[in-house]
Amino acid sequence: MSFLALQLAKEQIADLELQLLKRKLRVSQSPCDTNAVVGDRQLKAFCSNDYLGLANHPDLIKALAEGSKKYGVGSGASHLISGHSAAHELLEKKLASFQEPFIPNARALFFSSGYLANLTAITGFAKLAPRNGLSLYSAKLNHASLIDGIRLASAQNNASVHLFDHTQLDSLLNVLKEDTKPLKLIVTDGVFSMDGDLAPVKELLKIAEQHDALLLVDDAHGFGVLGEQGHGILEQENIRSDRIIYIGTLGKAAGVSGAFICAQDYFIEWLIQKGRPYIYSTATPPAIAHTLVKSLEIIEGDEGKKRRAQLSRLIKVWQDEMTFAGWTKSPSCTSIQPVILGSNASALMAAKLLDDAGYWIPAIRPPTVPVGSARLRITFSANHSVDDVRELIRTLKDIEQKILEKNST
Ligand SMILES: *Cc1c(COP(=O)(O)O)cnc(C)c1O
Repeated sequence: MSFLALQLAKEQIADLELQLLKRKLRVSQSPCDTNAVVGDRQLKAFCSNDYLGLANHPDLIKALAEGSKKYGVGSGASHLISGHSAAHELLEKKLASFQEPFIPNARALFFSSGYLANLTAITGFAKLAPRNGLSLYSAKLNHASLIDGIRLASAQNNASVHLFDHTQLDSLLNVLKEDTKPLKLIVTDGVFSMDGDLAPVKELLKIAEQHDALLLVDDAHGFGVLGEQGHGILEQENIRSDRIIYIGTLGKAAGVSGAFICAQDYFIEWLIQKGRPYIYSTATPPAIAHTLVKSLEIIEGDEGKKRRAQLSRLIKVWQDEMTFAGWTKSPSCTSIQPVILGSNASALMAAKLLDDAGYWIPAIRPPTVPVGSARLRITFSANHSVDDVRELIRTLKDIEQKILEKNST
C-alpha cells in the first residue's frame, strides 16, 4: 500500500468521526444472551438476532462438543475437494425437508455465512444468462449482501438492475411489462432487517409467475421464527412454488452459524458446479453442521413452539404498551422493533443514555439505513421476560423525555 493510501484512510476516518458515522467495536465477555458482560459492566441486551435464545443453549453446547469429538475441529478443504462430511450431508437433507412442502424437488446447499450464500445464489443465477440477457429486480431496502451479489452479477453479466419499493409494486410491474430479457430475477429480504416488516412474498410470486421471473427470498430474519413449525416465511404465507430460491441463515434464530440456499435440485446442482464462493472456500467445520442438526430439531419441536410463543407475547406487550410522545414506533409484527429517531446525533445520544441505564441497544446509522432515518434497532429474544420488556419501555420513555427536553432548550 502506498503511503498516500494510509494518509487517505486516516483522513477519511477522521471525517467519519466528524459526521458521527464512525463505528466502534465493543468487546463482549459473555456468551450471546439477554444478559451481557461488556468490560466490567452487566448490560441487558436487546440487540442480537438470537431470536429464539438458542446461541447459549445447553443442548447445542453439548452438540458442538460431541460434533468436534466425532469430526475434529476443521474440515480441511472445500466441499468439492474433501471437506464435505456426513454431518454436512445430513444437515442439507434436513434443511431441504424443512422447505420441501413449499419448494417442490427442494435441495439445500450449506454455506459458512449468509453473505456467501447470497453472493453465490445471485452470481450463479446470472451465469445462466447470455450476455446482456439478464434483469435483476431488487427491493430498495435489501440487505447489503444481496446488493453486493447484484453488483457482482451485473459487473460480470452486464445485467440491468432495477430497484423497487416493496410497499408499492406498481413501479416494479411497469418495468417488468417492458422487459424483454430472457432471464429475470426478483430479489427481496423476507423480513426487512432494519424495519421488521415482511415482504409481500405472495404478490411478488404472482408477479414472477406472470413475467416468467424467479423470486429469491432472503429469509435471514424469518427462518426459525415464522410459521407454525419455524420453517420460515414460506410456511407462514402458505406458499408453494418451484420459482423460489430460498435463503435461510443459521447464525440468527438457529443460534449457531452459517446459511443455506434451498431451491429446485437442478439449480442447486448448477451452483455446486459453477458457484465460485461455494467452490473456492473451505467447508464450515462439520461440528457446526452437527450442532445445526440439533438446532433444527429444537426449532421444529415443542421447545421451538414454546419459544416462538414467548416471542409473540413480548412483541404484543411492546406493541400494546409502548407509546412515545414524539418518536415513532414501527408497526412491525416481528422481533425487530425499530425506533426511528432521524438524526445520527439523536440516535447516538439515545444509545448512550440507554447504555448509562444498563442497556445494550446500539444506534444504527447510514449506510446501514437511509440517511435521516438513524434508529435504535430493538430486538427481542425468547429469553427475555415480559418484565424485561416493560422495564425497557419505562426506560425508553424516560430517555425520550430527556432528549426532547434537551432539543427544545
Ligand atoms: C444477516 C443477514 C445476512 C447475512 O448472513 P450472515 O450469515 O450473517 O452472513 C443476509 N441477509 C440478511 C437479510 C441478513 O439480515
